Order: sequence, then C-alpha cells, then structure tokens
Amino acid sequence: MFKSLRIKARLRRFARFHPRVNFAIRSTIMFMAAFGGAYGFLSASRSEQSGYDPRAFALGASFLFAVACVALAMLSMRMRWLRHKMRKIALHNESLIDRNWELKEAEERARNLFESQGDLILRRDAEGRITYINKACLDFIQKPRREIVNTTFAFDILEQGEAAIETDGTRVHDQRIDSPLGPRWIAWRESLVRPDAGHPSEVQCVGRDVTDRAETERALGDARDYANAANRAKSKFLATASHEIRTPLNGIIGMSGLLLDTPLTPEQVTYAKAVKTSGEALLSLIEELLDFSKIEAGKIDLEQRPFQIGALIEEITELLAPRAHARNIEIASYVDERLPIEVVGDAARLRQVLLNLAGNAIKFTQVGGVALIVEPGIWPDEISFLVRDTGIGIAPDAQSRIFREFEQADERIARSYGGSGLGLSISERIVRRMGGRITLESTVGQGSTFEVAVPLKTSDCTPMPAFTVPDMSGKSIMLVAPQTIESALIARRLERWGVHTCCVSDIFVAQALLPERSWHAILVDHALGASDVQDFGAAAIPHTPRRIAMFTPAQRHDLQPEAMAAFNGYLVKPLRAASLAARLSDNPPPLAPESPDESAEACPAPADKGLSILVAEDNEINALLMRSLLTRLGHHPVISVNGQEAFESWLAAETAGTPYDLVLMDVQMPEVDGISATRLIRDREAGRSAPRTKILALTANTLVEDRYACFEAGMDGFLIKPLDRDKLAEALTGVVPSPHLAA
Ligand code: ADP
Repeated sequence: MFKSLRIKARLRRFARFHPRVNFAIRSTIMFMAAFGGAYGFLSASRSEQSGYDPRAFALGASFLFAVACVALAMLSMRMRWLRHKMRKIALHNESLIDRNWELKEAEERARNLFESQGDLILRRDAEGRITYINKACLDFIQKPRREIVNTTFAFDILEQGEAAIETDGTRVHDQRIDSPLGPRWIAWRESLVRPDAGHPSEVQCVGRDVTDRAETERALGDARDYANAANRAKSKFLATASHEIRTPLNGIIGMSGLLLDTPLTPEQVTYAKAVKTSGEALLSLIEELLDFSKIEAGKIDLEQRPFQIGALIEEITELLAPRAHARNIEIASYVDERLPIEVVGDAARLRQVLLNLAGNAIKFTQVGGVALIVEPGIWPDEISFLVRDTGIGIAPDAQSRIFREFEQADERIARSYGGSGLGLSISERIVRRMGGRITLESTVGQGSTFEVAVPLKTSDCTPMPAFTVPDMSGKSIMLVAPQTIESALIARRLERWGVHTCCVSDIFVAQALLPERSWHAILVDHALGASDVQDFGAAAIPHTPRRIAMFTPAQRHDLQPEAMAAFNGYLVKPLRAASLAARLSDNPPPLAPESPDESAEACPAPADKGLSILVAEDNEINALLMRSLLTRLGHHPVISVNGQEAFESWLAAETAGTPYDLVLMDVQMPEVDGISATRLIRDREAGRSAPRTKILALTANTLVEDRYACFEAGMDGFLIKPLDRDKLAEALTGVVPSPHLAA
C-alpha cells in the first residue's frame, strides 16, 4: 500500500517537473489506444474467421466512441480546473511580489535607521566576525566598512567596568576605549538576535558614548570623597576644639562654684553667679555644636531599649519646672492612658528633642505656660508628643525656616532671648532618623504647638503600671487655680477616671459653689494667695473630706504651718499622675509631700569615711579644682601630673598595702596618657587575686570612639568635663573605702 503511494507521489512529482515529457507520454498512450482499437476493429471486420457481425461491430464502435468522448470531456474539465488553479497561483504570486517589495522597503528603512543612529551598532556572528556595522561605529573607529565587515575587529580597551545581566538576558557594561578621537567611555548593551530563519544567532552590540556622564560622575565622586574627608576633618576639628574649650571651662565653672561657697558680699555673689551662668551657656553652645557635627557626619546611632513614656515625660517636666516657675509660668504634662506603659526606642535622644522643644517653649513664653501632651499618633505604633505654649508664636514665613541650622524666627527678638539656632535643626534630624516627623502650628501672639510623631513599638515585657488607675465614676472634684494650663490637664486626667470636674479660677466663686454638691475632693492652687487659700480651706471643711493644696517647690519653703491647717493633703506642681491617684484614693499616704526637686536640692553630704583617690590631671587649674572638690566632699585626693607618675603612685600605694579606692584618670596627658596608664595598671593587676582598682576617665571628649577606647583600656566609667560637685559626688557613691583608711 505505502509502496504504491510512494510510486504515485513520485510519478506526480515527475509530471510536475517535466510537463512536456508528461504530455508526450500521455498523447502517445492515447494515440496508441485509439490506433490499437481502430486497428483491432478493422482487422477483426476483414478477417474471414472472425464471423463479422455488423451489430456487434456497431456496438463496439459506439462503445469506443463513448469512451473517447468521456476521456475528452474529462480532459477538457481538467484543463479548466488547471486554468483556474493557474489564475489563483498568478494572484498569489502577485501578492507575494508585493510582500517581498514591502519587506525590502522595511529592511531598507531599518538599515537607514541603524545607519542614522548616533549610537554605535554592530553585530558579530558565532565566530566573532562582524556581520554588520553602522555608520556611527565606522566614524568612531574611522575605518571604511569593507575593512571591518567579515573581520574579527576588536576595540582597544583601556578600562573595563563591571558587567551586569538584565532580566531579559541583555548584558550591560561600560568600557573606556581608545579611539582616534581620544579615550571615550562607551556604555554597551549586548543581546542575542536571529537575523534570518535558519541562520544561527548573532550578538548585537549597541554602544552609547557616555564620556561626559562618566566624567561628571567621576568628578562628583571625587568631590564627594573630598567633602567626606573635609567633613571628617571638620568633625575632628570640632571634637578637638570642643575638648580644648571644655578644659578651661571646667576651671571656670568649677572655680566659680567653689567661689560661691565662700563668704562673699552680695555684689560679689552676683558677679560669681554671672561667671558661672556664662560658663554654663558657653558649655551648652559647645555641646550643641558638637552634637550638630556628629549628626552632620551621620554619626548618630539610635538605641533600641525599653523605656516608660510616663516616667520620661514627668522627668522632663520636673526638670524644666524650676525654670518655668522662675518665670511665673506653668508647666504640666499629660500622658494618655491608652498608650502602652513601656515602649522600645532611644529614650535619651527623645528626651533631648523634647527638652529642646519644651525649653524653647518656656524661653519664648511670658504669660500662661507650657503643656507636654502625649497621645496615640495617626498610624499604628506611632506616638505623638505635643509641646504647646502660650508664648510669642512664630510668623508663617519663619515656620519652615527655623528648622534649618543657625536660623531664628526673628533675629531681633532672638537676640534678647539668646540661643544658637541649632536646637530645632538637631531635633528635626534626630526625629527624622527615628523615622518620625516634627510639625509646627503657630499663631503670632497666641502661642505655638510643636508635634513630634515617632514610631515606637510596644515593649514585649509588660511592666507593672506606676499606679493603679482609680475608679472614681460619678464623683465630683473641684479644681481651683488661677491659670488654666495645669488645671485643664488635671481635669482631663480626672475625667478619664470618671470624675465630674469643676474648674474655677476665682476663689470666691469657688467658695460659693461649695454647698452645691457633695465634693469627693477639692484641689486648690496656692498661687491664689496664702490667706485666701487658708480661708477657702477652712470654708471647705464641712463640704469635703479631702482638701488638697497644690504648690510649687519654691512656694513650699514660704508656707506657714497655720496656712496649711485647713488642708489634709498637698501635691507638688507639676503633679505626678501617681501622686494624684494616691492622694485621691480612700487611703491617702501620710502627709509628706514628695518633691521632684528634693533630691536635687539636697546637698551631697560629705562621705563618712573619705575615699583615697588618685587624680591624674596635667592641667594645673583643673587639678586644683579636683583637689578642692574632693576635699570638700570629705575625700583624700593625691594628684599626679601625667600617666607615668600616676602609675608609679598607684604602684607605690599597692606595694605599701594602702591601695587607692579610686583612680580619676584624665585621658589626654603629656608623656604617658590616661589610656596607656590604665593599661599599665590593668596589666599589673592581671593574675592577682586582690580586687582591681576602679578607674574612671576624666575627659572632655564626648565622641563614642573615645569612650570605646577608654573601655577597651579597662576603665570602669566616665566623668565628662566640665565637672561639678553633684556629678562628682554621684560618681563616687557606691565606691567602698578600703579598710586601711577607715581604721
Ligand atoms: P535657639 O537656640 O535659637 O532657640 P532653635 O533651633 O531651638 O534655636 O530655635 C530656632 C528659633 O525658632 C528660635 O530662635 C525662635 O526664633 C524660634 N522658636 C523655637 N521655638 C519657639 C517657640 N516655642 N515659640 C516661639 N519661637 C520659637
């Protein structure tokens, strides 16, 4: 079957390719058939034995005639069909010619396009021979086409950039090529293309001259490196300069402090205080400059540690309260109880930002006060810190400017308030680094509100709340205060606890309201005047069991016991939420006002048994200051003027069996510095069983690297110069004197 089909196919192919032979064969067959038939009839009709029958003959003849007619008819039909097919083929042929022409045109257009490109275009076959090169490329190498096509021509490469492969397989890389026009940077894109069906793929390279861009990038890179180096040098310079300035400042602040402790005339006290205040102002300016340079150099590393928001805000408020109260303005805080107690972040940096904002708020407010409000932010995990004041306000045109460094809203006004114009720009950068933002709303003459919104994650551990929120639903409390900043925040807190509050600013109106309700408590601000407050307290006795007076720490010192007789509780402003809750509870604590500044006010008592302290300090004035401060604190200082002397003194004391309790080691000293002296001491201590001597660095360097260097050398802590008596006393608490001195 297949064999016969194959034969037929071959015959058909033969007939298609040799039509004349086919025609001759067919004509011969037909002629022979006709001739054979006719001859057969004729010879049969003339033969004697054939038994000629005219009828049969007629039948045969007509049959043959019919067959011939059918064959002719079929031939004619086939001819018509073939003609029809021919016409179709001719039409198809015409359309193919058109297509071909179009393709040629498209090819020509593509070629023109390639040729007119400014980019260098060339194609190479699998062996690396160039199959196509455009005019731009020929101009670039300045050679005729015939010298390049079909050769393995290669560019003279001076520098090769790194190559990268894109997702579609295109390879991109830069090359610096030596051309007759000079060295040029070419950015290449290489991809595989298939020129014709049935032909192997070729590599098409398209190169763009990016010399200008590359040179600009290189120049920018050089400029950036130069700027970074300059920035580093600037930071180093600032650190060194600030160190150098801090050292004499240490003397100025410390010595004026000591001077103020001596008997002085009132005039001398004024002068000595002015020296101390100016020294402190200079110190804070240096600190701001140093901080700014650290931020500029991108050197702020944020800590991620859990801290309590409530404690942080109350601490800031209490720290700034003396300043606010000295200006006769209020300061108060409110932390929304919906917020988590503990969050994770950099508490020290947040404190720095809020201290700057609240410090400014106090500085620029003369009437009213400052409120620190903490609420949930608009995003999950975001906390919003609002610092609101009723101060001079900021004009709209200055509102964005003041966040830039060394900018002040109004130079004239700023001069009378002081300041460097750096605080807000430092704060803004810190907040941005935390992933947050600072915004400002202000009206001139009415006040400003700075909002710091930062993302702070809730801490994993759930600390004990600072106090239990009391349930005082339905109870009534009257708040009598002349100013509204603190009383409004106290009222807001009380209302959260379910209290009906009644805020009154006139004490006589308050007295008239006493019989109106049964009051759970009344809170009266002592700022209303001692005798009025005393009278009001007495009048309130029949109406409420809890009569609470509120006053600032400074007012407390002026209080006469009889003025407080009608009261059975008091609270120190700014109020702590925990104290308020405790005072309003059914079992209030005994009458002992907790004072935020009590500890600060308390002068460190001289140590019972003085410590034996080795001080390594090369600066004569600072050494004198250290000696005076330590002696006043009841200790026994020994001064060495360099590291070598300090080490020898330490060694002598050890050998004599009277070791020092503490070494205060200046870091920068001539000959052997503090780091090397510490190493000498630690090396000597290694391997022995006696406890090692505590060494604290005395340094004016505040850079993190310097701190690391001290810890690496084996020091136990830091004391940053300029040093005051409180800082020193704090650092010395916990150091146990050795028995030889106690004895
Ligand atoms: P400075 O050390 O001068 O206070 P800041 O960067 O902290 O520097 O503040 C820049 C300027 O912004 C201030 O000089 C002041 O003009 C303006 N400013 C900042 N806070 C307030 C505020 N609460 N009320 C009015 N003006 C303010």
